[in-house]
Amino acid sequence: MNKVFIFTLGCQMNTYDSQVAAGILEKAGFEIIVEGEGPGDGLLISGRPSISQGADIVLMNTCSVRDHAEERVWGRLGLLGAEKKERPELIIGLMGCMVEEHREKLFKRFPYLDLMVGTRHIKELPEMIRQVHESRRQVALAPGREDYRVRAQGQPATRFARIKQDGISIEYSETTKRDSGFHAWLPIMTGCNKECTFCIVPMTRGSEVSMPAREVYREAERLVADGVKWITLLGQNVNSYNGGSTDNGQRTTSGRTVDPCPLPAVQDTLFPELLEMLCKIEGLERLSFTTSHPQDATEELFQVIAQNPKIGRRFHLPLQSGSDRILKRMKRHHTYADYKAMIDRLRTLVPEISITTDIIVGFSGETEEDQIATRSALEEIRFDSAFIYKYSVRPGTPAAQLLDDVSSDLKALRNQELIMIQRKITEDKGRLLIGQVRRVFVEGRNADKPKEQIARMDQDRRVIFEADQDCVGQFVSVEFIGLHHETFRAKLH
Ligand code: SAM
Repeated sequence: MNKVFIFTLGCQMNTYDSQVAAGILEKAGFEIIVEGEGPGDGLLISGRPSISQGADIVLMNTCSVRDHAEERVWGRLGLLGAEKKERPELIIGLMGCMVEEHREKLFKRFPYLDLMVGTRHIKELPEMIRQVHESRRQVALAPGREDYRVRAQGQPATRFARIKQDGISIEYSETTKRDSGFHAWLPIMTGCNKECTFCIVPMTRGSEVSMPAREVYREAERLVADGVKWITLLGQNVNSYNGGSTDNGQRTTSGRTVDPCPLPAVQDTLFPELLEMLCKIEGLERLSFTTSHPQDATEELFQVIAQNPKIGRRFHLPLQSGSDRILKRMKRHHTYADYKAMIDRLRTLVPEISITTDIIVGFSGETEEDQIATRSALEEIRFDSAFIYKYSVRPGTPAAQLLDDVSSDLKALRNQELIMIQRKITEDKGRLLIGQVRRVFVEGRNADKPKEQIARMDQDRRVIFEADQDCVGQFVSVEFIGLHHETFRAKLH
């Protein structure tokens, strides 16, 4: 009864939370299986493929940002329910934003769901699984179910730094099961204080809270000492980080050894300063971050990026719409001209920067004219890449009060139109790099073709090249020779 399959949906923050959960469970004696690698591959349950991958426990780390992500969870839960009829001992659990959003209702809707864990209780998963196993009763540690108590014995002894606030948390743990020896995700803030009318994040992740700069610095140093060379800082609005903003008693740290740290205990550290400090860590070669919000995309931040070559050359800045009328309805607090001026300034300071974005089509009240404005924005700015989403109403958000008056057919049509335009721009810009030589960081090798090495550019784009020697963990120079979708083919230079 100890094989756990963790299935992760949603943002990089969820990826990180799943890595924390995997590390804690592994330390407590569970075996973790990764999607596609389970012993259950090819296993059929009543003629259908086994969703559980043959594991004893399935944990789904969920996302609520768009209804599409939720649909996938409902679908999988249905299949898992069918599987459980044939394997009643199977334990099914949910983590992540859907737990925060739907809470107790999920137990009623899915009586075969065994456990739910909110984003701030991941550490208690081993004990919760044991409880379910012993009692076969539904167990939750999430907002609205604070009655559950964890027994102290049997907890893995581990070093933690955590901040927590109602419904949200960030935890740093030595046991986090990273998927690369060289790259690590590092959450520095979570939650959101912005008021975008379409967005559910303030409801699921709560208001903004930042990990103190000292803790971030120490964790980055620890990761580098452990062999990490590339860190990606995470946050719902990572550039809204304020390391001094939560010194009001809501933040707790526990069980840490106090190392010498160049920072005072309390100080108002904003994002540009944090980046500068982290760049000074010897052995850290690359520092990236995602996702930024236009409201905090300041001149100071751009200057810091320009002056620190360690900072990755990709800046993801969601535009959402090219129409000022729609931006206003979304409460984005910027116009298209403001946004364009920011990008122009950043491109002047850092000419090699790659700019990527998010777009929503079919928001309430969007007309053909608004769609043309977004199309023109894509053509004028020429992003390196863009995620283009169809608007979906999220219950409880301010926009849920507005009419969802763009039909799903029209949303699909507008979505497709913009995807085609952006795909062409991405390809055209990529082709300009063919024949050029760049330094790339080699992250791993293809398990089936050991000569094939997988690398990343400073602009965070994937590069594949063949070499006899093992280059993993090193920067190498390659010449680009081809482009397939968004991945470059290259040869060692
Ligand atoms: N904090 C960033 C910002 O607002 O600039 C973005 C983070 S959000 C979690 C990721 C993306 O999901 C958004 O940029 C938006 O494009 C998309 N998104 C959020 N709510 C959505 C909704 N209701 N329907 C469709 N897409 C949505």
